[in-house]
Amino acid sequence: MTVKTRFAPSPTGFLHVGGARTALYSWLYARNQGGQFVLRIEDTDLERSTQEAIDAIIEGMEWLGLNWEEGPYYQTQRFDRYNQLIDQLLAEGKAYKCYCSKERVDALREQQMANGEKARYDGHCRNGNPDHAEDAPFVIRFKNPTEGSVVFDDHVRGRIAIDNRELDDLIIRRSDGSPTYNFCVVVDDWDMGITQVVRGEDHINNTPRQINIYQALGAPVPEFAHVSMILGDDGAKLSKRHGAVSVMQYRDDGYLPEALLNYLVRLGWSHGDQEIFSVAEMIELFSLKAINKSASAFNTEKLLWLNQHYMKQLPVAEVAKHLAWHFDDQKIDASNGPSLEALIPVMAERSQTLKELAASSRYYYEDFADFDEAAAKKHLRPVAQAPLALVQEKLAALTDWSAEAIHECIKSTAEELELGMGKVGMPLRVAVTGAGQSPSLDLTLLLIGQARSVERIGKAVEFVANRANS
Ligand code: GLU
Repeated sequence: MTVKTRFAPSPTGFLHVGGARTALYSWLYARNQGGQFVLRIEDTDLERSTQEAIDAIIEGMEWLGLNWEEGPYYQTQRFDRYNQLIDQLLAEGKAYKCYCSKERVDALREQQMANGEKARYDGHCRNGNPDHAEDAPFVIRFKNPTEGSVVFDDHVRGRIAIDNRELDDLIIRRSDGSPTYNFCVVVDDWDMGITQVVRGEDHINNTPRQINIYQALGAPVPEFAHVSMILGDDGAKLSKRHGAVSVMQYRDDGYLPEALLNYLVRLGWSHGDQEIFSVAEMIELFSLKAINKSASAFNTEKLLWLNQHYMKQLPVAEVAKHLAWHFDDQKIDASNGPSLEALIPVMAERSQTLKELAASSRYYYEDFADFDEAAAKKHLRPVAQAPLALVQEKLAALTDWSAEAIHECIKSTAEELELGMGKVGMPLRVAVTGAGQSPSLDLTLLLIGQARSVERIGKAVEFVANRANS
């Protein structure tokens, strides 16, 4: 049988890291098995579902590269199908109309709670209820088996057995005619041919009820893998309080999708003590059995480390594609300086995120109005006048603008003026970058370009002269 998995988010918010990890595991399993992956939008909660959230989820999936063969399906477009099956269960006596008023159900619950019992419907209408008005509103309840137990082997949690007496008769259609979540999920997973359901452990209590519905419908029961929660680094459930939780916020903050995927795959899954996994490796090595049972704690430091790793290791054209987004975002015109492909190898060493890389590369693309005050105070002093003027002359005369030639100019300037390299290098750095920090000078100048470097040194010479005169 072809493996088919799905990701089935409810569009009530953006795609958060917990959802993204569930999607990733489900996707990886399908890919590992040469199977298919389905995206299904569970939008039956009309009050809370929004188009904005649907768009955000799709955008997040696309940014992560979690592609799907089928979908997105929308539950709101399948109401006829759900209702047809509910009618069928009614006709077969596997479901029933329940006329119990809200007051009765509430009172029942209160009494059960007062007695220290679990709140559950008592089956009052299960065998017919003659005492209701002809036009009284009703819901449809599923006739849960009253004996035996539901047993399933969860890929993550092992064997789980629930006594049917623990489960009550679930509402599958509300009084307004709309089908309920637990029913729709079963019908969808059946119709869509889902073989493995990978989802968050918050759904584990629904699974035995859903298995009973599969059986009543005569549908094959899929396998299940319930994935544990993600906690913040303080041990509490991951929330906005811990910083970014939306996948797209990670893009905005300068992370590469490869880094986030690698981070998420390790957050609850392992293969020996390996930390770095390319997407191809994840696909090859992934198994549901190796997912951890225990909750995992989010660790931003590790994510940053992985991000820098991928900034340095991924093909530069790939990194450039994502960096271009940040250039646009920070309104830096990438056509006004070195190619991103040339910039990345030089700057990736010095930045943990693409956002930081873009921000600290502005001087390659734009002239700056002022020198950094502290750097200028320290390095653009009268003693810098001569080395700056000489190195400017040498650089201007170069016909071969290469790192070696640039280095030679700096070196020979220092030698001719009998100065240490730093006495030439530091003023030069401040002159061309505006600040006291940059990659090695030969590479920095190489990227800034000859004309722009020479012009900037000229401005620095002027600055020093003005300062000497003031
Ligand atoms: N729509 C559910 C959620 O977003 C997921 C249901 C499922 O995966 O079965 O939590």
